[in-house]
Amino acid sequence: MRRFAFAVLALSIAGSLHASEPTDVAKKLAQDAVIVDTHIDAPELALDEWHDLGKRTPEREFDYPRAREGGLDVAWMSIYTSHDADETGKAWTLANNQIDFVTSLATHHSDKFALLLSPKDVDRQREGGRVLLPMGMENGGPIGDDIKNVEFFYNRGIRYITLAHGGNNRISDSSYQRKGKWGGLSPFGEQVVKEMNRLGIIVDVSHLSDEAVRDILKLTDVPVIASHSGMRHFTPNFMRNMDDSLAKEVAAHGGVIQISFGTVFLDADAAKAFDTRRWTLEDMKAAGKSQAEMEAWADQWKKDHPAPVLHTDAVVDQIDHAVKLVGIDHVGIGSDFDGVSGELPVELKSVADFPNLVDGLMKRGYKDADIRKILGGNMLRVWGEIEAKAQRK
Ligand SMILES: [Zn+2]
Repeated sequence: MRRFAFAVLALSIAGSLHASEPTDVAKKLAQDAVIVDTHIDAPELALDEWHDLGKRTPEREFDYPRAREGGLDVAWMSIYTSHDADETGKAWTLANNQIDFVTSLATHHSDKFALLLSPKDVDRQREGGRVLLPMGMENGGPIGDDIKNVEFFYNRGIRYITLAHGGNNRISDSSYQRKGKWGGLSPFGEQVVKEMNRLGIIVDVSHLSDEAVRDILKLTDVPVIASHSGMRHFTPNFMRNMDDSLAKEVAAHGGVIQISFGTVFLDADAAKAFDTRRWTLEDMKAAGKSQAEMEAWADQWKKDHPAPVLHTDAVVDQIDHAVKLVGIDHVGIGSDFDGVSGELPVELKSVADFPNLVDGLMKRGYKDADIRKILGGNMLRVWGEIEAKAQRK
């Protein structure tokens, strides 16, 4: 998700506050299942404050040792650029720098990581305990206004693109904006979606306006994903989360909704506070307030609206709701680790904590085969379908 750049990073209390230890069966299933997390915001932070993610890095939420402890196999690295970076012409360079970072991480630690370019390679590449790193681009800003850049980023390894982020961009309207620019997808956005379909890049509808998602579903018969979203059922009027009727449409098109762990996605009050904060800051900016004034206001707001203390059940509730709504084959996980300022359920603070989620699902009555679908099976199936429908020359 990524908050404003000046949001204070709350350090996570690295998994030390488990309400109860997961059962051995849950731990074993987390290790044995292919866990696919479709949204981890590691690259931008790693460039801002350099960390070697091959080593234990407690101040972060993703690193190799904890990915292994948690049983995480496929960790989608978010190549994130903000709407501001797009508007100031920096998105292209920032995205390419992050792609370089992920690529070099895999090269530098070839025993621990590998870039993942196709779902067909998962079984072969995870041999020896490697954590696989596919890349998803969060915000289509770096594409600029040249359709050829979609293929450029495909060739650099990008396998999904979240068409917009915080602002209405050249491609699509954003769910963060109170008013749309295009009424959904732009004419250029239609070209981008078709080009992504041709190449086999997954269209990610997280962060988009409802109208944009509907436009995409009308335009294509290829499945789409929501790489990191919650269910709006739990957070009324929080447009960033997935509406029930839209979730049904995404599933009817064969897609998958990847549930996020950040408390903003899970809790109605937190979601409301998040919207109010963002909109107030936008209004302050439009009124010409200084960066210092905005930061001071945001700091005070944060103190007055602390993140709620939630537990694994809050995520299981969302998964359970989504499964009942759209079926077991259309739900997965996209944590948003390293992207929500540490505001996460107590038992889901880092990639080491997937066994707690498995434990929660088991306690809710989910069986082994269904848990495997949620953890990664569904996402790999959908990615495989999209790849099979690609028509690269
Ligand atoms: Zn996001």
